[in-house]
Amino acid sequence: MSVSPVCPRCGEVLQVRPGSTGEGWCHLHAAVTPLHHTAVIAHDEIRAVCADARVPAWVPDPMPGGWAVTGLAWGGEPGARAIVVACAGPAPLGGAAEMVLVAEEPGTGLGCGYAGLPGVDPGDLVSGPSHAEVQAAGQRAPLWMVPTVDDRAAYVGEAQGVWLWLVTWPASAAWLLAEDLDLVDLRDRVYPDLPLGPPTERLLPGR
Ligand SMILES: [Zn+2]
Repeated sequence: MSVSPVCPRCGEVLQVRPGSTGEGWCHLHAAVTPLHHTAVIAHDEIRAVCADARVPAWVPDPMPGGWAVTGLAWGGEPGARAIVVACAGPAPLGGAAEMVLVAEEPGTGLGCGYAGLPGVDPGDLVSGPSHAEVQAAGQRAPLWMVPTVDDRAAYVGEAQGVWLWLVTWPASAAWLLAEDLDLVDLRDRVYPDLPLGPPTERLLPGR
């Protein structure tokens, strides 16, 4: 079930002209790629979004113990140019944690939306020595930490020719990166026992 598309940069509901699904109008950010999301997370919905997606849908594989997918959002349809997979589970240092993994074509602004950054791309924030790394579909992907608000941590890098963002709540949940974090592209394989959890309230940017 798809609900009203929102701005990928601020999460506000968009004006979308009938017949023009590729572009929406945000009163703050002008023309943007509409971000769609689903109220009910289900394996079939993930498969449907992944079927014609132009960017990866990243999810940890294996999932950290007790973690589950709690949301799915995609920018543009058909042929998603950005995909967000939200997950939640126990934090490495205790308590509950949430994470969004974003793949997006440059110029979309979705990762910056979660990180609270003003632009659409990380620009100079991706330079110098990297701060962490993940394995994305078997390829090493260095990540750079970017400045963000106190309640979260945000990292960005590049994988398969598009931005890869990882944002965690609370900031200390980024300790997940201290372990080897392997990501699988759900376009390659939606495994039937991929754990699904109740929908997150962190799915949309700008919150
Ligand atoms: Zn906006």
